[in-house]
Amino acid sequence: MNNETLGDITVPGVMGPVPLRRAVEAAIGEIESPIPKAQNYANRFYAHIDRFTYGIEKFQIDSDADIIVGSYVPITTTSIADRQIDKTRKLLRDSSLMLDRIFTGARKTKDFMAMIAANARIFDTEYTEDILDLAIRNSADHIGIKLLNFNDKDTARTASVLRFITTLRKRLDELRKPTPIHLFNVMSEFAYAAFCHGAYSGAVPIATLPDLHFDPNNQPSPEIKGRYYHPIDMSYDTYEELSVKTNAQDFAPPCDCPSCASCQTIMQALPRWAAFRKEHFLFRKSEEMIEIRKTSARNLNVKLQDKFARSQATSYLPYLEYMYPYVLE
Ligand SMILES: [Zn+2]
Repeated sequence: MNNETLGDITVPGVMGPVPLRRAVEAAIGEIESPIPKAQNYANRFYAHIDRFTYGIEKFQIDSDADIIVGSYVPITTTSIADRQIDKTRKLLRDSSLMLDRIFTGARKTKDFMAMIAANARIFDTEYTEDILDLAIRNSADHIGIKLLNFNDKDTARTASVLRFITTLRKRLDELRKPTPIHLFNVMSEFAYAAFCHGAYSGAVPIATLPDLHFDPNNQPSPEIKGRYYHPIDMSYDTYEELSVKTNAQDFAPPCDCPSCASCQTIMQALPRWAAFRKEHFLFRKSEEMIEIRKTSARNLNVKLQDKFARSQATSYLPYLEYMYPYVLE
């Protein structure tokens, strides 16, 4: 939007053509509107989105992405889900054709991903079948599922998301399509459970500044220190909680990753706490992923059950009772 290509595309405004950037800013600033937000966005922007497909694909190719993600609109609410699904289907088809026919050279070395961004609530509705159809009926090499408003502590919703993933994997297998299913915007622990239900990978959001967080229920405190992932408890501990847990070991970090090995006590990590805990998180999660990839897909859930049972993240145990019967190892 700010690189002076997409943002400067002109779209019709009330008083004549305006740059897209201005139209988006106006829509975001429009707090009071007689029509619901999702519908307002659809009315304002759906007619113009098609014109971004080229720019978005070119940007990804120029940035040397290995997987080109197709254009999409989020599927957020049953009141206009039909329209959102229909728009996503058209964008997906156009993105795929664009890559095949315009970026012919790039297509030889790059994969294409069909991204479906959906509010987790939608998997509890009659639209599930349409979304499955959307995911299956295309020629993408990968399927991405970006979950919006998803809290994996909500057990009913988590169960319906996992059910959706399993059904999608089954349908793809029936059509002999090996297309991997990737999850976006999930907690890593949920991703592990989802691997047992047919998902292939999970991307955890870490893009926010590590020392900043926004909690509408708590006023910002000058003393915010982000949480540290405890590798055995599988919990996200505050600095104070970690101090209590490590007290008996002279405050030594409960981990031997390069980040933790660089300090003898957690106090020594304080001056660079944000970077320290993020680097530690990445090291630990990489190791957990290596362990998972080494485990046979036949008993991955059993291995994960052992790990989760020894942790404090036992709320994930019920999701590990199932193991998808993967055809390929
Ligand atoms: Zn560590």
